[in-house]
Amino acid sequence: RPTPPADATAWPRRITHAVNIGGVMVGGGNPVVVQSMTNTDTADVDASVKQVAELWRAGSEMVRLTVNNAESAAAIPRIVDKLAMMGINVPLIGDFHYNGHQLLAAEPACAEALAKYRINPGNVGFGKKKDTQFAQLIEFAIKYDKPVRIGANWGSLDQSLAARLMDENSKLANPLPAARVLREALIRSALDSANTAVELGLARERIVLSAKVSGVQELIAVYRDLAMRSDFALHLGLTEAGIGSKGIVASAAALAVLMQEGIGDTIRISLTPEPGTSRTQEVVVAQELLQTTGQRAFTPMVTACPGCGRTTSEFFQELAKVVQAHVREQMPVWRISRPGAENMTLAVMGCVVNGPGESRHANIGISLPGNGEAPAAPVFIDGEKAVTLRGDNIANEFVALIDAYVDR
Ligand code: SF4
Repeated sequence: RPTPPADATAWPRRITHAVNIGGVMVGGGNPVVVQSMTNTDTADVDASVKQVAELWRAGSEMVRLTVNNAESAAAIPRIVDKLAMMGINVPLIGDFHYNGHQLLAAEPACAEALAKYRINPGNVGFGKKKDTQFAQLIEFAIKYDKPVRIGANWGSLDQSLAARLMDENSKLANPLPAARVLREALIRSALDSANTAVELGLARERIVLSAKVSGVQELIAVYRDLAMRSDFALHLGLTEAGIGSKGIVASAAALAVLMQEGIGDTIRISLTPEPGTSRTQEVVVAQELLQTTGQRAFTPMVTACPGCGRTTSEFFQELAKVVQAHVREQMPVWRISRPGAENMTLAVMGCVVNGPGESRHANIGISLPGNGEAPAAPVFIDGEKAVTLRGDNIANEFVALIDAYVDR
């Protein structure tokens, strides 16, 4: 593990093999890639196309779909074609369990259309069939020149490997705790499978590894180990993170620690969507995690105070929401016409206590009048007071100032 830097930055990125996934580079020092997964029935082509497009528009740079039967395998090339007709060329990843070797054999068009195959070494096959079926999957990856993610998961741990390690551990003079042995089984499942794939002829530049668990501290321990013991590109994700704020906080807590240490080449936030909310929330959370930790920039960052008894209304909270929504809506256009806008910082503050100070730190910030203050909202641009807004049209005038700043 490298020495932490003295300044306020993340540790240097871990050196990994770069993997080309349908034109998106993962690892090798490339920016950490955001990915997500659909929850439609893959065989429902129209529903899957619609959701992939939504995820892509939200910023997902790769999208995984389950491929669990003949119908879903047959749907994959049709999904790719329909997306291409919409001008969307996002790499699609096939998520295979149990029968991936059969589906890839039966549907060559699916094998060709996918940009990557996800293989779970815990359920690729059982008993003597395991080695054969794993080898078949790797042969398809070689034949179609596709990368694979070897994705071990706590919920589908290779039981024969776990039993063997537990047995060996029981014979030691000082056996390790069972949890430590099971963690080792998860790591070994991923590493041994990756090394077998290399022996079968798959290049290291075609392999991404993951070993997901649902506990924050356990995930950090697993990935620190994986990072020290291999140079494969790593996919990070807290599996089954949960619903709402719990899933967001748990994912951010685990992934931020790992990325701070330079570990991780692509991330997925595995949120359980709250009923009625969009699947795209996990993409927004992934982007915000990468941006708030200084890894990448996607959209201007809005700093806003929480408000307190010094604020007389919720106007400043509404203004913060308006500003956040505005820059998110504009970003697809700005990304093309105003590159660099995503690095901008904005501040919307509720009173004179921290308002002018925080606003001066932003590229453009506004300090709204608090309780008992004169009804005036000074705006600061690049650290200097530029104008004071008053009246009922402050929101529109501030948004116009943001647009003018971006144009300049
Ligand atoms: Fe309260 Fe003012 Fe601080 Fe906002 S900036 S939290 S309104 S004291």
